[in-house]
Amino acid sequence: MPERDVIIVGAGFTGLVAASQLADAGLDVLLLEARSRVGGKVESTVLTNGRRVDTGGQFFCRDMPQLMALIEAHGTMPMMSYADGDTVFRPPVSPAEGLALWHRVDALREQMIATDPHDPELAGLTVAAWIARQDIPANVAQGFLRLVKGLWCRSPEEISFAYLASNDRRITNTHWELEMFLAETMHWLAERIAANLDHRLRLDARVTHVDHSPGGVTVGVEQELFSARRLILALPPTISRRLSFSPALSDALGRALAAWGAGNAIKVHVTYARPFWRVDALNGSVMWQEPQGLYACDASHGDHAGLVVFIGGPLADDWHRKSNGELRTFILGLLVDAFGPEAGQPQEVHIRDWVADPWSGGAYSDVIVELDAADAEDVLNHGAPPVYFASSELSPSFPGYIEGAIVAGKQVAARVFSDVRQGVATPWQE
Ligand SMILES: Cc1cc2nc3c(=O)[nH]c(=O)nc-3n(C[C@H](O)[C@H](O)[C@H](O)COP(=O)(O)OP(=O)(O)OC[C@H]3O[C@@H](n4cnc5c(N)ncnc54)[C@H](O)[C@@H]3O)c2cc1C
Repeated sequence: MPERDVIIVGAGFTGLVAASQLADAGLDVLLLEARSRVGGKVESTVLTNGRRVDTGGQFFCRDMPQLMALIEAHGTMPMMSYADGDTVFRPPVSPAEGLALWHRVDALREQMIATDPHDPELAGLTVAAWIARQDIPANVAQGFLRLVKGLWCRSPEEISFAYLASNDRRITNTHWELEMFLAETMHWLAERIAANLDHRLRLDARVTHVDHSPGGVTVGVEQELFSARRLILALPPTISRRLSFSPALSDALGRALAAWGAGNAIKVHVTYARPFWRVDALNGSVMWQEPQGLYACDASHGDHAGLVVFIGGPLADDWHRKSNGELRTFILGLLVDAFGPEAGQPQEVHIRDWVADPWSGGAYSDVIVELDAADAEDVLNHGAPPVYFASSELSPSFPGYIEGAIVAGKQVAARVFSDVRQGVATPWQE
């Protein structure tokens, strides 16, 4: 007899939420996490000014209902990101011109969302190939490619167009996605969820292999074995495919896991003595048309003044190969160009490189780079019970976001609960 009802591998938001739902519903669960902390792609550090900041997932907006509800349930309130004043555009254009270009790029995004992903004309197309087919000015095409590199963090020459159109259709916010953050950090929220799991969570537990049969699963963590009736792999697809399965997964599942590539992102916190850009009526945001894949915004709160700089896609991959000293010089040079000499006098520059992260693969999420794998998400969501796959990437809403991870965790928990309890309705609200 298996020792437990359910084992969950991975204590990112997907795994934390799935484990909490199932534990609260009375199932005997064990959550195994490779790192010595919870949160996965949500993590934090304490800066030299004593302020704790998120070095991974951080921002959200009011259009993300599951995350908003979770924050409220844990008794805290979101902080509003600073948004008064103008955004700086590089190369320099007036705020009006910059916004006009942004609206044209956004209209192209709407056009992408409106395409039929099953249209045979679009099969096997990359995002770059789709853009090349559009009759649009060069600056709009470049603006769109910049957006793709910055948000999906891979080259548009690699990403499947059908995937991107389907993925973006599920990112439904109408408010700015960086609208809010938590003063305590998002990582604090992950720790709060984990605290309720108590002894059902094991850190430093690196799962390497999975034996499965219709009767249940056994997973191996170094020399230790754990068994359960069901197994949830709450891991990004590029991480799930590293595990060894016995018997081997079906060809369809193997192909579905192989279809993904990890994103590349580096997140930089630059701390200052004061938010000096506000004096010039600037909101702290910078949109760089060149180099592509760069974005900065104000992340100050309380007595902490700072900017966050995101580096995504091929640019992050390049900087991953160079030293932090060189990256610091590069970032400060860009900020001085955008905001003037005071930007070159930071109190601290903190760099978190997520490229090829050993346990999350990369950032902000995996994306589909196999052009003929339109069914990869469906195949993984179907899984191979007693083995189930779940992660933010596979979410029906906000894939690649913390909201998506929560939705994916709830969805897989509902399915596993009803499989274990044979059709008994879930005791929580969907
Ligand atoms: C720099 C950065 C900035 C981001 N910014 C935002 C943002 O502002 N807003 C937003 O909504 N989203 C943001 N995201 C994305 C968001 O953080 C992720 O979509 C979400 O956290 C993914 O959660 P997950 O549980 O699906 O996966 P993960 O967080 O990757 O969790 C997987 C877990 O599995 C563990 N694991 C891996 N292998 C094993 C193994 N063999 N055995 C046991 N455990 C294992 C990992 O350690 C990890 O804890 C950002 C991500 C990054 C990296």
